[in-house]
Amino acid sequence: MKLIREGKTKKVFFDPKKKKFFLQFKNDITAFNMKKHEIMAEKGEVNCEITTILFGKLKEKRIPMAFKRRAGKDLIEVSDVRMIPIEVVVRNIAYGSILKRYNFKEGFKFSEPLVEFFYKDDARDDPPISPRIAELLKVCRREDFEKMEKLAIAINDVLKTAFRAAGITLVDFKIEFGFNEKGRIVLSDEIDPDSCRLWDKKGEMLDKERFRKGMGNVMESYKEILRRLKRL
Ligand code: UDP
Repeated sequence: MKLIREGKTKKVFFDPKKKKFFLQFKNDITAFNMKKHEIMAEKGEVNCEITTILFGKLKEKRIPMAFKRRAGKDLIEVSDVRMIPIEVVVRNIAYGSILKRYNFKEGFKFSEPLVEFFYKDDARDDPPISPRIAELLKVCRREDFEKMEKLAIAINDVLKTAFRAAGITLVDFKIEFGFNEKGRIVLSDEIDPDSCRLWDKKGEMLDKERFRKGMGNVMESYKEILRRLKRL
C-alpha cells in the first residue's frame, strides 16, 4: 500500500493492485492547531470503530458518503474523493468557539441546528468562510454550500437520534465533504469523539474536550461512547 497523504490524526493509503483507497486512524491526539499533541494507545481503533458505527447509521438513511467498509482494526475503505477544504460545523447547543465570536450563553439550545463553515488553513487558524469568499478563492461553488448545509442538517438528525438512544447529548460536531468521481458531494473523513462534543446525562464531557482541558480519562470516555453505541 502506498501512503499518499498524512494528516495529524489520519493517513490515506492507495492500493495500486486493487485500486482502492484506505483511511488509517492514528493514535495521535492533537488540539489548538498541534500546540497540544499526545499519542494514546488504542485511540485509532476505537475511533475507527465509532466512525464505522455512525457511518453505518448514516448509510441506512441514504446519506451519500465516501465510506465503504471497515477494512482493519484502525482502517476503513473509502472511495476516491477530492476533499473540499472546508470544515462544516453543526451546533445544537452553544459551546466552544462560537462563544468567543458571538454573545450566546454557554449551553444555549438552538431552536434549529446552526451550521457554520470554516476554511481549512492552519496558518490562519481556520477562519469562517462564506459562499462568496469560497467562490473567489476557488474552493468550491456557491451552490455547493447549500448542498453541504442540507446534508449537514440531515446528518445531525441521524446522529442526534442515535446518540440520544445511547444516553448522550450531541452538542456539536465537525464534518468534511468531498467530490466523488461523478462530481457529487459526499460525506468524507471521520465522525468520532475527536470531532464531536458529546455530553452524558449528567453533563459529563466524553469527547476530545477532556484532552483540550487536560481533564484526563480521555480513552476511558471514548471507550464508554463506543460501548454505548454498540448496545444500540
Ligand atoms: N472541531 C474539529 N476540528 C477542528 C475544529 C473543531 O473537529 O479543527 C469540532 C469540535 O470538536 C467541536 C465542533 O467542531 O465538536 C465545534 O468546534 P468549535 O468551532 O467550537 O471549535 P473549538 O472550540 O474546538 O476550537
